Amino acid sequence: MNFQSFHPPRRILMGPGPSDISPEVLASLSRPAIGHLDPLFIGMMDELKALLQYAFQTKNEFTIALSAPGSAGMEACFVNLVEAGDKVIVCRNGVFGDRMVQNVNRIGGEAIVVDSPWGRAVEVDKVEAALKANPEAKFLAFVHAETSTGALSDAKALCALAQQHDCLSIVDAVTSLGGVELKVDDWGIDAIYSGSQKCLSCVPGLSPISFSEKAVNVIKNRKTQIQSWFLDQSLVMSYWSGAGKRSYHHTAPVNSLYGLHESLIHLQNEGLENCWARHQKQHEALAKGLDKLGIKFIVPKEERLPQLNAIYIPDGIDDVKVRSYLLNEYNLEIGGGLGDFAGKAWRIGLMGYTARSENVALCLTTLTDALAQQQ
Ligand SMILES: *Cc1c(COP(=O)(O)O)cnc(C)c1O
Repeated sequence: MNFQSFHPPRRILMGPGPSDISPEVLASLSRPAIGHLDPLFIGMMDELKALLQYAFQTKNEFTIALSAPGSAGMEACFVNLVEAGDKVIVCRNGVFGDRMVQNVNRIGGEAIVVDSPWGRAVEVDKVEAALKANPEAKFLAFVHAETSTGALSDAKALCALAQQHDCLSIVDAVTSLGGVELKVDDWGIDAIYSGSQKCLSCVPGLSPISFSEKAVNVIKNRKTQIQSWFLDQSLVMSYWSGAGKRSYHHTAPVNSLYGLHESLIHLQNEGLENCWARHQKQHEALAKGLDKLGIKFIVPKEERLPQLNAIYIPDGIDDVKVRSYLLNEYNLEIGGGLGDFAGKAWRIGLMGYTARSENVALCLTTLTDALAQQQ
């Protein structure tokens, strides 16, 4: 066997994630590895916590990056908080809401599912009715930014409802963090998880999470032991806290955490509000161009995610042919449809470092070419 080093081409990542990684973040990954219990590394982990608190807009002490992808962040929230027999109201308006339902079922919890149409925001009225009908429910779980459909839900309103009904909120912010307004403390979010490879534009495989004091108390006062050893946050807590002295839990992905630190420094320097505004601006430029091409959005304007543009594939156009053409001719990746939208939709991501004018322009010209190829 004569395998060679792997040298991927430089693609432009305009799918549902991962997004493009800036040269500065890429460079940070190749800095020397040091021990994960080295005092210098522990100092960097402490900075990471502060940077994540800024990104989440929270003072939550328990704010860390899990050494695993967004899906593990989802699972960590559910396995730590929910016990067998607990009632959880789960909003489902796409693929990721459905995964929340599966998490609750596997724990032996009782999922009360509130379905909203795919391609639309979670219907707040329906959620309120479910909360009223199930006064013993302990949690309300929903996806802030449904990457499978491009819909943005009203996290502020949903969390306010959860509080009124004495429920803790569990929020999927994998695609929303850094891309749209998100305020963990102001909105009263209790458990939230995200991913490193969407609007934070870092390497995949890390999941920023944050738990409110209320959520931490629920974890501390569980009746049953958490089934997952690796995701048991009562163990992970002591790996991420303590004055300069940490106990070994697992080996953190040292260089990936350099990358996250670097990408969060960029977020801080740009400023969260400016970052949200940049995503919105690039989205509007893309939407204007798509409109000229006669391409229709799936989601109504006021419920659209700027960072994930879900559009209908025009009649008579071959999904895979177009996406392959863009990839092979232009090194440009856009996403296909998921679930109900497989073969019917494209998903154009404008996440993090990808959300720049030159990428919007390139996407519009190359898509125009790809469509012309099929006429
Ligand atoms: C991408 C994504 C996930 C899963 O994250 P991974 O890092 O792929 O495990 C979960 N929820 C939403 C909304 C996502 O977009």
